[in-house]
Amino acid sequence: MYDTIIIGSGPAGLSAAIYARRALLNTAVVEKEPFGTGAIAVTERVDNYPGLFGISGYELGEKFREQAEALGTEFIEGEVTSLEKNGAWNITLSDGSTLQSKTVIYAAGTKNRKLGVPGDDKQKISYCAVCDGVFYKGKTAAVIGGGDTALGDAIYLSKIAETVYLVHRRGEFRANKSLQKKVSEAANIKLVLNAVLNEVTGGDKADGFVYTQNGERKTLSVDGIFCAVGSVPNTAVLKGVCELDAGGYVVAGEDGKTSAEGLFAAGDVRTTPLRQVVTAAADGANAATSAERYITEQSE
Ligand code: NAP
Repeated sequence: MYDTIIIGSGPAGLSAAIYARRALLNTAVVEKEPFGTGAIAVTERVDNYPGLFGISGYELGEKFREQAEALGTEFIEGEVTSLEKNGAWNITLSDGSTLQSKTVIYAAGTKNRKLGVPGDDKQKISYCAVCDGVFYKGKTAAVIGGGDTALGDAIYLSKIAETVYLVHRRGEFRANKSLQKKVSEAANIKLVLNAVLNEVTGGDKADGFVYTQNGERKTLSVDGIFCAVGSVPNTAVLKGVCELDAGGYVVAGEDGKTSAEGLFAAGDVRTTPLRQVVTAAADGANAATSAERYITEQSE
C-alpha cells in the first residue's frame, strides 16, 4: 500500500513527488512513457521559470526528474485504465496489474487538440515543432493557432524554414506580448489572420490547406503543417470518479482537493486560470501537502 500514487510525470507530477518524498510519504509515480517529463520536454526554451532563464524544456524536465529520483521516488511504467476508491484507492493499469494507495495525485496533463477538419490526421500534420522542425530546412511551413504554443513554434521554425505562415482564425493573438513582439520581428513569418481552416490537402503528408478569409475561399501550398490549437485534458478515466467541468478539467482549488476524498489534482488537468510550468510545479507542491494532511487526519 502506497501513501500516495502520482499519475503523470510532468512538472506537476514530479513536483508532487518531491514534496511527497520530503514529507516521507511512500510515493510512486505512474508514467505512460518511460523516463518521461511531460509536454515540457518538447519546449525549445523556457524564459519564465524563475532562476533558470533560457533553459531548454528538456533540461528543465530532466532536472525535476533527477530531484524526484534523488529523493527516493519510485517510478512505474503503465497506463491507468481505472481508478476506484474502495477504502483505499485501487488503480488498474493497462497490463491488468493493480496498485493500492491511500491517496492519488492526478497530474496526467493534456493532449493536443486536433483541427477537426477534413485531412486532419496524424500522418499529415505535426504537433511538435521542436521534434519535426529539422525536416523543414529551406522549406515552407504553416503553423495553425494563436496561443503561446503556436507563436513559440512559429519562432522556432522561422530559424529553420524559409517561410513560416502563422495562420490564426482571429485578428489578434492570445499569446503573450513578448512572443508577439518576436513574431513581428521575424522577417520570414507571414501572418494569415482571420483565416478559418476548411481542409488540409495532400496525400500521406500535408501539401497545403484550404481556408476562408473575409468570406473568400483560398488555398495555400506549404511543405508542412504544424497544429498548435490548444489541448484537451487527459481525464477520461476520471469520468464518474470526481467532478469535471464542461471542458473535462478536474474541478479542484489551489489545494488540489477534488470532489472525491483522497484524490487530488495538479497541473494542467485542474481548473485554473494559468497553465505554466511554474503553476504546475506549485500545484504539485500543494497537492502533495494536501495528501499528507489527509493521511494524517485519517490516522488520527
Ligand atoms: P491555447 O492558449 O488554448 O491557444 C489555442 C489557440 O488555438 C488559440 O489561439 C485558439 O484560437 C486556437 N484554436 C483553438 N481551436 C481551434 C480550431 N479548431 N481551429 C483553429 N484555431 C483554433 O493553447 P496553447 O497555445 O497550446 O497554450 C496552452 C497553455 O500552455 C496556455 O496556458 C499557455 O499560456 C501555456 N503555454 C505557455 C508557454 C510559455 O509560457 N512559454 C508555451 C506554450 C504554452 P482563439 O484565440 O481564437 O481562441
